[in-house]
Amino acid sequence: MPELPEVETVKRTLEELVVGKTIQSVDIGWPNIIKRPADPTEFTTEVKGQTIHSMRRRGKFLLFDLDDIVMVSHLRMEGRYGVYKQEDAPVPHTHVTFGFSDGTELRYQDVRKFGTMHLFEKGKEEETMPLTQLGVEPFDEEFTVELLTNASQKTTRKIKPFLLDQKTVVGLGNIYVDEALFRARIHPERLAHSLTDEEFQKLHHSIVETLSEAVQLGGSSIKSYVNGQGEMGMFQQTLEVYGRKNEPCKHCEDTIIRIVVGGRGTHYCPTCQTN
Ligand SMILES: [Zn+2]
Repeated sequence: MPELPEVETVKRTLEELVVGKTIQSVDIGWPNIIKRPADPTEFTTEVKGQTIHSMRRRGKFLLFDLDDIVMVSHLRMEGRYGVYKQEDAPVPHTHVTFGFSDGTELRYQDVRKFGTMHLFEKGKEEETMPLTQLGVEPFDEEFTVELLTNASQKTTRKIKPFLLDQKTVVGLGNIYVDEALFRARIHPERLAHSLTDEEFQKLHHSIVETLSEAVQLGGSSIKSYVNGQGEMGMFQQTLEVYGRKNEPCKHCEDTIIRIVVGGRGTHYCPTCQTN
């Protein structure tokens, strides 16, 4: 599933291709992707004639700012956007196509069909699901060691599920939680409230550092991920633990272990992350 670095990279690469373009037609092949309004015909009516003025990211969501509405989209497992010419060959698993007035098209492809699109009146997008209840952005000043520490004192959860739930800090998924916990030398099954002040500082630092390095490298191409211009990310080459079950730790040469924490496959080094 794309996490913050991948969604940020999609946003940056896609905005170069779609900002300034006016939507002339919408073709919906799989209506379940359209979550709001409930009627896909109404979705088409609202979007037609609108121009894409900018794109934003909030957590793992992509936002398209149109004239007076905002489209909020989540790629879920394998969703991807690509820009094509109208005459280009059909792309398999394309479920929604936005035709632009300049003869190009924004095509949404999704093998698993789990992705979503919601429309909101401009300025109201954070008042209704799915953007309500989201925590702070990890690159914002609001994300502090204190915020992380205070939120963890109110939970009995383990540190990994606590970081995954998006309610304190957004953008982390399975890959970057495992990587950030490794960098901070924290075992993924530690209870969140049991971390020491020093560990919270290290964890805060490693979350910001891991995510920003991954953004710089265009995200991690694991499974099918490519950016908005069809290019792969490079961060997967620097992964320390994620996806490295039975491989030697790059720091101590002990064997990386995979366990299940909160229902999610979790990778860690038993020597570097002892407690
Ligand atoms: Zn190690």
